[in-house]
Amino acid sequence: PPAIRKISEKHDKVFVTGCVEPDTSKPRANAAFVVLARNKELDGVVQSLKSIERHFNRWFHYPYVFLNDGDFNQTFKDTVRNHTSSKVEFGKVGPDMWGYPDWVDPKVAKEGINKQGDNAIMYGGMESYHFMCRFYSGFFYKHPLLAQYEWYWRLEPEIKYFCDITYDPFLKMIEHNKTYGFTIAVKELRETVPNIFRYASAYKRLNNLTSQGLWEMFIEPQPEKEAAPEDKDKEAQRNEPPRPPEIDLEAMEGEKYNMCHFWSNFEIARLDFFRSKAYEDFFQMMDRSGGFWMERWGDAPIHSLAAGALLAPRDIHYFRDFGYRHTTIQHCPPNAPGRQLPREPFLEMTTLDERKRREEDAYWDEIDPVQENGVGCRCR
Ligand code: GDP
Ligand code: MN
Repeated sequence: PPAIRKISEKHDKVFVTGCVEPDTSKPRANAAFVVLARNKELDGVVQSLKSIERHFNRWFHYPYVFLNDGDFNQTFKDTVRNHTSSKVEFGKVGPDMWGYPDWVDPKVAKEGINKQGDNAIMYGGMESYHFMCRFYSGFFYKHPLLAQYEWYWRLEPEIKYFCDITYDPFLKMIEHNKTYGFTIAVKELRETVPNIFRYASAYKRLNNLTSQGLWEMFIEPQPEKEAAPEDKDKEAQRNEPPRPPEIDLEAMEGEKYNMCHFWSNFEIARLDFFRSKAYEDFFQMMDRSGGFWMERWGDAPIHSLAAGALLAPRDIHYFRDFGYRHTTIQHCPPNAPGRQLPREPFLEMTTLDERKRREEDAYWDEIDPVQENGVGCRCR
């Protein structure tokens, strides 16, 4: 009927034709799920495993790599193995990838962390959270258990997938020459990253990187050129960590971070992006600034700003067709506002333009494809 055809022009295929049969005919990509976790998170891990197995991996059988700064106990390993028929490996994260590097004075770092705790910065006072963020920023892709893989899909405890994923996202990303995929982009808590953008900008400028169009995603539109920085920022800058002398941060004052970042608890990405010299240089510069200790830089804004500096919109894929929830934030395909992103899976993300964004919002607000068609994916 014409009504359906009208919808079909505008909606992702699954909302029009129903759930497609999983296409497992092609060989798998060289990829694995990566899960960092602790023994005490077993229940949350099981929830995530059940969800990803049910909605995807029971057809595709991608292997899992579990990592931990401690040792996984036998119960943890046995339980995980009971929930998947895929290959599972358990690895330990050594002190070379976890904890304080030898060039940091642990006393100073610990004081910085305690101060963040006193200031009630979310996770700011938790040493292990700082270690985790730094590990996911600069090390996970160097872990020996990941050496054989070219792609990874990050999985966390207590997440949920709502929709069947009936195609292989790795193969699709390869086919469309994508580097980094996300489902949710949100704003960071400003007080966790007061100086992150000044360093990321400095990196970009020191390396003469011109924007390929993605950097703009992270810049606050500035109505007036002479706008004074907020008092909070000024104070943050006074408290900033010591920085390498060659970096002229003052020159970067023109651009301001809008706090946007890809939420990295879901990520599908090419590992060679992180393993590149450019990313390593970026990580080294960010790391040496002390921001992983004196501030509470998350791996999400780190990955995002690196992508902003080094990639183009066409390298990024928005998995808008993946229903996904982590804690209180979720992305639900049937009713999600489109933001500034393309409506068809695997179209290029070519524009961040305001008019297009409004068009997209209107498109997603207009219709509930589940109700109209009685098929598709419900967020439950
Ligand atoms: P949130 O998502 O930002 O609230 O942080 P989480 O507590 O979920 O931590 C992010 C990821 O790192 C999850 O996969 C956790 O299991 C893992 N993680 C966090 N802290 C530690 C830690 O100290 N040791 C280990 N092994 N994993 C951790
Ligand atoms: Mn989490």
